[in-house]
Amino acid sequence: MASTKSKSGSSENFHTPEPSGSDQPGARWGPQHAGAQELAELYSPGKRCQEWISVLLCFTLMAFNFCYLVTYFHLGHAWHILLGIVAGILTADFASGLVHWGADTWGSVDLPIVGKAFIRPFREHHIDPTAITRHDFIETNGDNCMLTIFPLANMAANFLMLSPAEIYRNYPLYCYVFALAIFVTLTNQIHKWSHTYFGLPRWVTLLQDCHIILPRKHHRVHHVSPHETYFCITTGWLNYPLEKLGFWRNLEDLIQSLTGEKPRSDDLRRKSVFSLAHCLSSNVISCLHKGKKRRHQNIAELKWYHTIYNTKVERSCLTSDIS
Ligand SMILES: [Zn+2]
Ligand SMILES: [Zn+2]
Repeated sequence: MASTKSKSGSSENFHTPEPSGSDQPGARWGPQHAGAQELAELYSPGKRCQEWISVLLCFTLMAFNFCYLVTYFHLGHAWHILLGIVAGILTADFASGLVHWGADTWGSVDLPIVGKAFIRPFREHHIDPTAITRHDFIETNGDNCMLTIFPLANMAANFLMLSPAEIYRNYPLYCYVFALAIFVTLTNQIHKWSHTYFGLPRWVTLLQDCHIILPRKHHRVHHVSPHETYFCITTGWLNYPLEKLGFWRNLEDLIQSLTGEKPRSDDLRRKSVFSLAHCLSSNVISCLHKGKKRRHQNIAELKWYHTIYNTKVERSCLTSDIS
């Protein structure tokens, strides 16, 4: 079990089944991986502020709507309420898969605004799957809270303006929207729990074991490179049927045939750069140790990669080897 202090100040115990390998400067993945560090550094104070506002607004609206739902609860349409809740959870699971698939598969962290704010956390998560366990509540849930503010505000306005008869008539719809909002809001928290192996409350592991929320073992399927399946991360209920239908593959083929864009092309470019840099770094170090003549040639190569890609792998190698 390891204890890690996050940059936002929270301290949590976690363990992950993936191998560590993160205590070396040229680590292939994990918190010390140059790519993971580069992506983590893009988390700005402005983003933090947006997350705080979103969390406060979202949870206030959620509490407000919950009070009204309890007040107007009636068993008269119990089956419709149940149907609304299940449909809301399924919609949230599908939405989590669609958004996750989009951010994993298309675009780049270098894109203006969306790259840093939206694509970055998904790409960082593949290189450093434990990073999410070091994010505090605000960083984990901020973005999703922002998404659900509008439907929750709309529901609150309905409760304030509509007559009791109209509220009674729309009640199952409100249950659908509320279940959808709750599960969308908690998707990242549920995802974080699926990577946490120690210190989880008993009720969380119970929900995981009953597959009411994303189980840990289930989510590991997505973390096998090249991360092309099991994108749903709320309950994971839709992962198996969507995989059997070849849903994501077909959607990628369709988009590639329409746009010519290859899925995961940015990931492949980043991976090849880092693995090449890693090989060169290892080569330089081994040459230094063995006193071979290729040292200067390799350092020149590393300098070239440093100039082109500005990666930390080369930077750390250059500072330690040249000086
Ligand atoms: Zn992913
Ligand atoms: Zn994950």
